[in-house]
Amino acid sequence: MELLVDSYGRRIKSMRISITDKCNFRCTYCMPAEGLPWLKKAEILSYEEIERIARVAVGIGIEQIRLTGGEPLVRRDIPDLVRQLSKIEGLRSLSLTTNGILLKQLAGALAEAGLTRINVSLDSLIREKFAKLTRRDQLARVLEGLEELERYPSIHPIKVNAVAIRDYSEEEVFAFVHLARRKAYVMRWIEFMPLDADQIWRKEDILTGAELKAIIEGEYGPLIPITTGDPSETAHRYTFSDGIGEVGFINPVSEPFCATCDRIRLTADGQLRTCLFATVETDLRKVLRSNGSEEDLAKAIRQAVWNKELKHYIGDKRFKRANRSMSMIGG
Ligand code: SAM
Repeated sequence: MELLVDSYGRRIKSMRISITDKCNFRCTYCMPAEGLPWLKKAEILSYEEIERIARVAVGIGIEQIRLTGGEPLVRRDIPDLVRQLSKIEGLRSLSLTTNGILLKQLAGALAEAGLTRINVSLDSLIREKFAKLTRRDQLARVLEGLEELERYPSIHPIKVNAVAIRDYSEEEVFAFVHLARRKAYVMRWIEFMPLDADQIWRKEDILTGAELKAIIEGEYGPLIPITTGDPSETAHRYTFSDGIGEVGFINPVSEPFCATCDRIRLTADGQLRTCLFATVETDLRKVLRSNGSEEDLAKAIRQAVWNKELKHYIGDKRFKRANRSMSMIGG
């Protein structure tokens, strides 16, 4: 079988699928306080449609699927979708990115349905700061959700992801390090990217992974690199000299990893995007809803992948903002 490869020779193995554009948080760096014009129900792919695209994509080489949004857990009956997707032969990893607020209720059902990995986004461990950033006073529920996850070892690893923002994230670096060393959580910081609906992003707001690493090393001594040999790994991963805990830095702005990018994204309304910063999309919903065959879908996916963008150009004169914000794309 001919696998999914783009015109620069990158083999595409990973697909993020957004299942809703709605979110129950309003993170200031992502969505305006009043929300965004939501997609209509008829515009959003049904679970059957998502499964069909996923099955075709796995058939031509996708190995990992991550469900995202918006907030994926606000979509009704998400364990049903997880169960369907987990049965796809050839799929090696099925994961989810969530703000964690509904995990207390849903972790068990997700584990039972076959979810194998999870990322919980958490930018602050201080109640007031968390409430200000997310515009929701719900830190306690997120922490409860994380604890609930610990009861289901089949979901592993549990990653905690924080967006690193200058003059916001520094003071909590050690609190997150303690969390990673005390709990079975892997900690990741990701650099702030120009994908916010309010367009508040400024270059000066980026707190780089290198800076975070230096802060941690100032206290703990040299971090020990963890190498997996997987070139498409987005995080620089480290443990501590005593081997307890894992932290990692995802540096899309200061150290772009476009050359080894193996990802494509499907939006909730069925548009295939081959880069977070893409300005063009491929309408897979149209293919589906005009009675397209599996071959038609595969052909549309292959064609889009072939034209995958070389790189994102952040910090370069050629940079163009994406035509949608992170919550509408699926982060
Ligand atoms: N609601 C889910 C969540 O909170 O994880 C999934 C969607 S959210 C858009 C996915 C991730 O994108 C979150 O970790 C969020 O912090 C991150 N994100 C949103 N806007 C971002 C930006 N401008 N730069 C970097 N990360 C961003």
